[in-house]
Amino acid sequence: MRILIIEDEKEIRSFLKKALQEEFFAVDTAEDGEEGSYMARTSDYDLVVMDNILPKKEGPKICEEIRTAGKTMPIIMLSVKSEASTKVDLLNAGADDYLTKPFSFEELLARIRALLRRPKQIEEEILQIDDMVLNVKEHIVKRGEKEIYLTRKEFSLLEYMMRNHGVALSRGMIMEHVWDMNIDPFSNTIESHIMSLRRKIDTKGKPGLIQTISGRGYKMGLPEKK
Ligand code: CA
Repeated sequence: MRILIIEDEKEIRSFLKKALQEEFFAVDTAEDGEEGSYMARTSDYDLVVMDNILPKKEGPKICEEIRTAGKTMPIIMLSVKSEASTKVDLLNAGADDYLTKPFSFEELLARIRALLRRPKQIEEEILQIDDMVLNVKEHIVKRGEKEIYLTRKEFSLLEYMMRNHGVALSRGMIMEHVWDMNIDPFSNTIESHIMSLRRKIDTKGKPGLIQTISGRGYKMGLPEKK
């Protein structure tokens, strides 16, 4: 899952980036409202965390622009109590939730997780395909009884693919949701991560769980019976 942080206070910005990366999110940051609004409208983020008062363009205006552009990802606003805009103003502008500074990271993380659960997925903190089980919150993957040790990126990639099992996923879609903007689109990063993931999750005598769809990308799930 990929998150955009729009925050002009450098300390908060870098703290949030690091803390969210440690929770296995891909994270991009913007320092002012103009840059943030542009990034949110032109990339495919799963969620945006933004400060209310920002240079060049303020939070409510950015929210409006994002919604006008047809983007529906959840937005969490950060605000300071003394600021004029009220909770109602922020929600009216298109934010889904808001937090008053100072807030604890645990609180923010809980709100992020709640917003990222689409209605149907409320119980889906546990994802399963065949005998492979991924626990989103605990960061644990098991195939049968055996625990599989993955790097952060491999875990994020597997989580994204399991959430979208049965769907053909192009390199572009994978890139947008699992990597941050620093990935080189011409590198073979995705291919090499798929390769190492296959090595770790596939077991002897069982069909592979990641299917290659020639010319299109990859699909998670057992191969279709011929
Ligand atoms: Ca600010």
